[in-house]
Amino acid sequence: MPTPPITEVAPRTWIVQPSWVNAACFETDEGLVLVDAGQATDAERIHSAVRSVTAAPLHTVIFTHGHVDHAFGLWGFLDAGERPRIVAHENVVPRFRRYARTAGYNTAANARQFSVDPATVPWPRDDAHFVWPDLTYTDALVLTIGGEEFHLHHARGETDDATWVWVPGRRTLACGDFWFNVSPNCGNPQKVQRYPEAWADAADAMAALGAEILLPGHSLHQTGVDHIRHLFTVQAEYLRTIVDQTLTGLNAGLTHDEIVAALEIPAHLAAEPSLQPRYDRPEFVARNLIRQYGGWWNGRAADLMPAPAPAWTAEIVALAGGVAPVVARARVLADPAAPDHDLALACHLAEWAVTAAPDDPDARACAAAVFGARAAAEPSLMGIGIYGAAARQAGSRPD
Ligand SMILES: [Zn+2]
Repeated sequence: MPTPPITEVAPRTWIVQPSWVNAACFETDEGLVLVDAGQATDAERIHSAVRSVTAAPLHTVIFTHGHVDHAFGLWGFLDAGERPRIVAHENVVPRFRRYARTAGYNTAANARQFSVDPATVPWPRDDAHFVWPDLTYTDALVLTIGGEEFHLHHARGETDDATWVWVPGRRTLACGDFWFNVSPNCGNPQKVQRYPEAWADAADAMAALGAEILLPGHSLHQTGVDHIRHLFTVQAEYLRTIVDQTLTGLNAGLTHDEIVAALEIPAHLAAEPSLQPRYDRPEFVARNLIRQYGGWWNGRAADLMPAPAPAWTAEIVALAGGVAPVVARARVLADPAAPDHDLALACHLAEWAVTAAPDDPDARACAAAVFGARAAAEPSLMGIGIYGAAARQAGSRPD
């Protein structure tokens, strides 16, 4: 990351990278257009980075969506007395209202997702935390600023309030989270609905632009018409194969687990550097789509209105002859040298043992070790977060 964290990618066009999230900055004859504003903790770095390259007044800020890492870092500018116009898709407003209503849940989910202390991810909950849009739109909007056009397009994808911004005069696309050099965040197990079909359509539209510069919401900027077209083309193909396989499975009467187990990413897509499951996973995208179209029941009748987990795990553990043999078997399955090594199975057994006997130190140690090993073997940040949280919970003793 450069110091200050801002890079001129074309004349009067910058990418600002104060942390893991980016903003795009365009200088026009009428003032600056900022696409996204980062997270609250980046506010001062974004402001000082922009002010290190231009003194033009901040004219307009476009939020590509209302996530906490994109729409909450404007305070450096606001505290300095600037009063830009804020533009966003109309669904950003209900998102902000929902955030205030679900702050407790989202604080815990985000801490788990990113493997951090909840105290370090304060969630916006009071009106003073939000910068509300002054201008919203429904499908598309063209802003003319300093004689230049900024084309805002709404599409659902990672969120229901997303905007991608095409600046035709600069052949530059600011795509928010529609692309950031990992497989699409379109299945997040802890968050609200994502939209893989609409995302694939949006990717096709962005592939067709002929963009020379891509300024994503995360990761490095990309250049070259053919390269950028390729990135969106393979992304659309990746999402569509997951959608097709999932709907085929649903229509054939498969259970959720059977659909996910049968999912296959074609080799040429699995080999794409920009589609590696380092954040989300294709299995999560499939389950997200199943939730959208098929409800939450998992196909196992006993799970519809299940007995409490401590009760049914206690039954299994008792049938197995106690906690000790269950723990011993979990450890065998978790041993990479074992002929029947199977970390997924080991996780089930370890979870049964610690759920049936939460005060048993050996069960706790086993669950901590097995889920720790699962986290270490997992490529996706979302999987690592959940397995790691399970390991920490088992390893810590609530007294
Ligand atoms: Zn993001």
